[in-house]
Amino acid sequence: MTVVISGKELATLRRSQMKEEVASFESKYGRRPHLAVILVGEDPGSVSYVTGKEKACIEIGIKNTTIKKPDTISQAELLNIINDLNNDPLVDGILVQLPLPKHMDSDFIINAIIPEKDVDGFHPQNVASLYLKQKGIVSCTPKGIMELLDYAGIEIEGKRAVVIGRSNIVGMPVSKLLLDRNATVTICHSRTKNISEVTKQADILIAAVGKPLFVKEDMVKEGAVVIDVGVNRNEETKKLCGDVDFENVKSHTSYITKVPGGVGPMTITCLMENTIECFLKHMEEK
Ligand code: NAP
Repeated sequence: MTVVISGKELATLRRSQMKEEVASFESKYGRRPHLAVILVGEDPGSVSYVTGKEKACIEIGIKNTTIKKPDTISQAELLNIINDLNNDPLVDGILVQLPLPKHMDSDFIINAIIPEKDVDGFHPQNVASLYLKQKGIVSCTPKGIMELLDYAGIEIEGKRAVVIGRSNIVGMPVSKLLLDRNATVTICHSRTKNISEVTKQADILIAAVGKPLFVKEDMVKEGAVVIDVGVNRNEETKKLCGDVDFENVKSHTSYITKVPGGVGPMTITCLMENTIECFLKHMEEK
């Protein structure tokens, strides 16, 4: 029998636990965690992600400030805003919603956020910490994937994991997290030859490709665990879909996630976890 791992369910559980935790902060520390989100422009995808983050903050009791700027803002102006937030002792986390307009250097902007407030875990110091096995902020989507695997009670040690995708925000960090849990990890990408031969060896298959319904049933080993990270629009139905052909793949798996309702809700939940983590570290240092 296949189990559909519900990210929605785990997100609800984690959010209620965080809500309780945050409620105790006011008496302990005199204030709640504060997340500042910068939104440049009006890209509908970005607006919707930022709204989702605001809602999650309200639900948990985290203070949220969203700074909205037109896409005509200069890089220097944006850097000034980041600088002010870096120096504000009452701000614990800073997030710049990506993508930024073309006239901006995203790497430069992300590098300007101090690592201690980099709740997305994209700053090079936090990325380095992950690879060096040092303490740092782990980026939200890979962290959420690991939480989903643990929630479902999936053993990782000694398992063969295959990750499709090698991006800095999903494929690479989730591969490192799986490796740190003693899986034997293979990473596939657009130049991988005979990809189904590789994916069919996976006990745990993570799809982070960005191509609708890319993973078909003949790419999956019987009884595998399949985690679908993809967020795509199905060309025919215009509905949201993942990288995995869920309907056809499901019966071949032991555990699988669905899109929507799988990895997605965990990404924002882990952003909230990272904000609390930054806040607590900030409070300890005072
Ligand atoms: P990305 O930066 O575009 O990376 C896609 C990866 O897939 C690349 O490494 C690419 O290989 C590989 N790839 C492309 N075509 C392939 C093929 N035919 N065979 C094998 N590999 C192939 O995307 P991303 O940012 O990692 O995101 C991946 C998906 O996850 C997207 O759908 C995105 O929307 C979704 N996502 C979801 C969340 C969430 O919260 N649920 C968060 C982040 C991303 P090369 O390196 O060779 O080009």
